[in-house]
Amino acid sequence: MGKPTGFLELDRQDRTYKPVDERLKHYKEFVVPLAEGEVKKQASRCMDCGIPYCHNGCPVNNQIPDWNDLVYHSDWKEASDNLHSTNNFPEVTGRVCPAPCEAACTLNIDDKPVTIKTIEYSIAERAWSEGWVQPQPPEKKTGKKVAIIGSGPAGLAAAQQLARAGHDVHVYEKSQRPGGLLVYGIPDFKMEKDIIARRVKQMEAEGVTFHCGVHVGQDLSAKYLESKHDAVLLATGSEHPFDFFAKSPGRDLDGIHYAMDFLPQQNKRVAGEAQTPKTQELSATGKHVVVIGGGDTGSDCIGTSFRQGAKSVTQLEIMPMPPEKENKALNWPNWPMKLRISSSQAEGAKTEYSISTTGFSGEGGKVKKLHYTRVNANMAPIKGTEGTLDADLVLFAMGFSGPIENDVVKELALPVVARGRFKGLDATDKDYKLPVSSKLFCAGDIRRGQSLVVWAIREGRQAAHAIDKYLMGTTTLPR
Ligand SMILES: Cc1cc2nc3c(=O)[nH]c(=O)nc-3n(C[C@H](O)[C@H](O)[C@H](O)COP(=O)(O)OP(=O)(O)OC[C@H]3O[C@@H](n4cnc5c(N)ncnc54)[C@H](O)[C@@H]3O)c2cc1C
Ligand code: SF4
Repeated sequence: MGKPTGFLELDRQDRTYKPVDERLKHYKEFVVPLAEGEVKKQASRCMDCGIPYCHNGCPVNNQIPDWNDLVYHSDWKEASDNLHSTNNFPEVTGRVCPAPCEAACTLNIDDKPVTIKTIEYSIAERAWSEGWVQPQPPEKKTGKKVAIIGSGPAGLAAAQQLARAGHDVHVYEKSQRPGGLLVYGIPDFKMEKDIIARRVKQMEAEGVTFHCGVHVGQDLSAKYLESKHDAVLLATGSEHPFDFFAKSPGRDLDGIHYAMDFLPQQNKRVAGEAQTPKTQELSATGKHVVVIGGGDTGSDCIGTSFRQGAKSVTQLEIMPMPPEKENKALNWPNWPMKLRISSSQAEGAKTEYSISTTGFSGEGGKVKKLHYTRVNANMAPIKGTEGTLDADLVLFAMGFSGPIENDVVKELALPVVARGRFKGLDATDKDYKLPVSSKLFCAGDIRRGQSLVVWAIREGRQAAHAIDKYLMGTTTLPR
């Protein structure tokens, strides 16, 4: 433990954001990092609890009190080694993780948890700037070949672990660049994409081969990959969006789109990547935008719309407004349901709670109005509360129901159940196998349903453990 009295003497201080009017002018990150001295002070607040409840919240089992202590004692290199021993991409989670560890921290009982995410970010960035993040190619190759379909955080984490274990790893990705939602979903203002590109470079030097622009199940069959590899991991995510309005009046008007038709286009523009041929280019410029659904995806639509110059952005949430403060006695150390204002919402969006969309109307085939009704706590409409909102662009951010089913899932006749999982599997299953063939494994959102980056990293690491054990009979890869 760094400083036994740290938490008594020092208040929580966290990273801040650049002012809204400044950050809306560009798509770059706008979080202002803490200076080294302040990070050390914040690390000294850690109490090194006998039972570190922060561990309870961290899916990748980060050894949080250990690296807090190392940072306090300025041993950044050891802190980096420790952090990388449990998390392949701490520079990613240090940016986009909602930090369930902080919700679980003992000091959160008093609403002042250790700034764990900021400390993680600082260690990770220090490691890159000092040149400590180097390729770790294996000493010996095993002669085994593994194919990974999908290069989101689950596929990437598995690929890195398996390559370091000596296997010949080939990642197949239908998009032009590896990274999955890290590259095409999460906007640049939350995470710039050179963060992923430098990891990909490290992984290539470790022996991972990326085959981008290859849509498995269409350009190449999954059966072929299975026949040419000793194991195949499916990490294709949960890409099928919910659409609760399929039968609503006006649903077919132009200007009503899924969030993931909108967000990747902007990320491609920032990267200078060509848009998918024959797709309609979408823009919020000069428009009244309505985003249906909360969560990260909804927030990302808001921030992107403001940067594109939307006239107004309104977000609709069918659930009632959560309480500003959770009941600690009931919640802690679990993830609390409470009001959270995302940095994008704080850029000027109006969020309406307890509201349900009943339809759309427009002119000349284009949407102009969204029709709504207020709903009660049971989500039942309240008579007489109907109204309309100006809406030139409506974005659906209501979550994802599971994998796309017309490619790999169809080809392999995989038995899908609701919310992404496969029959016979649940998120507690430890061998990550698919029930249809001993060679086939799966990890990430396709296995557990729509989730978080940190869970995808965990799944990728655990699937790598399971695959290495399957191939070699034994494994030293951590779970
Ligand atoms: C807009 C948005 C913002 C988000 N923001 C956050 C956030 O801030 N923090 C957080 O923790 N989580 C966030 N999430 C959730 C998080 O991104 C996902 O949980 C995570 O990326 C899942 O990882 P994955 O590897 O399982 O799948 P994905 O990241 O979805 O990757 C799957 C990959 O497989 C590829 N693929 C699919 N089918 C095929 C095929 N047949 N052939 C070849 N390639 C294929 C896809 O192109 C994709 O690259 C967000 C999600 C969205 C949609
Ligand atoms: S719960 Fe908080 S104070 Fe306790 S060890 Fe973890 S980070 Fe430190």
